[in-house]
Amino acid sequence: MNAQILERIADLRSNPTPLRGASVPEPIPGPDEILLRVTRCGVCHTELDEIEGRTPPPRLPVILGHQVVGVTETGQRVGVAWIASACGECDFCQSGQENLCPQFQATGRDVDGGYAEYMKVRADFVHPIPDSLSDSEAAPLLCAGAIGYRSLRLSNLRDGQSLGLMGFGGSNHLALKMAVHQYTRTQVFVFSRSESEREFALSLGATWAGGIDEVPPSALDAVIDTTPVWGPDMEALKRLKPGGRLVINAIRKQDTDREVLSTLDYPSQLWMEKEIKSVANVTRQDVREFLQLAAEAGIKPEFQEYELKDANQALLEMKQGKIRGAKILRCR
Ligand SMILES: [Zn+2]
Ligand SMILES: [Zn+2]
Repeated sequence: MNAQILERIADLRSNPTPLRGASVPEPIPGPDEILLRVTRCGVCHTELDEIEGRTPPPRLPVILGHQVVGVTETGQRVGVAWIASACGECDFCQSGQENLCPQFQATGRDVDGGYAEYMKVRADFVHPIPDSLSDSEAAPLLCAGAIGYRSLRLSNLRDGQSLGLMGFGGSNHLALKMAVHQYTRTQVFVFSRSESEREFALSLGATWAGGIDEVPPSALDAVIDTTPVWGPDMEALKRLKPGGRLVINAIRKQDTDREVLSTLDYPSQLWMEKEIKSVANVTRQDVREFLQLAAEAGIKPEFQEYELKDANQALLEMKQGKIRGAKILRCR
C-alpha cells in the first residue's frame, strides 16, 4: 500500500519534506484489531510536534495521522482518534480518565496512523461516524473537534459567561461553533495574529476579534489557548476575571519565547484565584459525545483537501500558518 512515512526527526525550516512516500506492506490485524481502508486523514498541529521532536515517536519509521476516517471489512464507516489504546485497569482508566493512563498509546505516534491507504486499529477504539457527516467533515472532528470539546468542558464555562479563544486554527474554530451552539448568551472573543483568521472568526459568530495583545471590550471568565508559544498565555492571564481559568490546549509548547514566562506579574496575572489548566489527550467518551453533538447541532468544520502524496505540502502550510479550517488528506 502507499503510505507517507516519517523516518527521522527533522526541523521543517531546514527540511520542508520530512515525510517520504513509500510502498509498504498492508498491516495485518492482531486478535483484538480490525483492518480499515482509510478514506480520509486530517492533518494536525501535533504532527509538527512529532516531526520536530517535541513529542517524538518512540520508534521510527512511523506512519503519522490520528484523525482517520475509514471503512471496516464489514463495510462500517468509523473514525480513529488520538487515543489508540489505554490499559483499562489503572485508577485513571477506571475513573473515566483513560486520557491520563500511564500506558496511553497515541495513534500515529506510538502505533501507525492514517497517512496511508490502510491501517489496523483496536476494535474497541473506533467510533461510528454519524450519517450526516461526510468523511472529510468527520475527520477533523476526531481530534481538533474532540479536544476542543474537552477544552470547553475543562474551561468550566457557564452560559452567559465570556469566553476568549487564543489562536484560531482547526480546534478553536470548532470550539467557537460549539460555544455559539451550546451557550446562546455567551460572548466569544477571538485573538489571532492573522487578519484573515480574525475575519473568519467574526463570520462564524465571534463578538469581537483582535490581535494577541489587544484588550477586548470585556474581561473574560475563561480562555482556551491553542497557540504553540507562551506569549499568548501571558496576555490571556491579564484578560481573565478574578477566578477565571486559562485552558492550554497544546501537547507541547515551542521554546522560542519561553523567556516571557519570567516576566509573570503575580498580582495582575495569577492572583485573585486565577487558574491555569492543561488539556491532555482525549477519552473515547469525548470523541463519541462530540461526534453526536456535532451531528445534532450541524457543526461542520471548514476544510481543504490534499492528495496523500502531498502530505508534506499540507504540513508545511500548517507550519507557516496558512490555516483556514482543517487540512485533510485523501487516502484511498
Ligand atoms: Zn491532533
Ligand atoms: Zn490505564
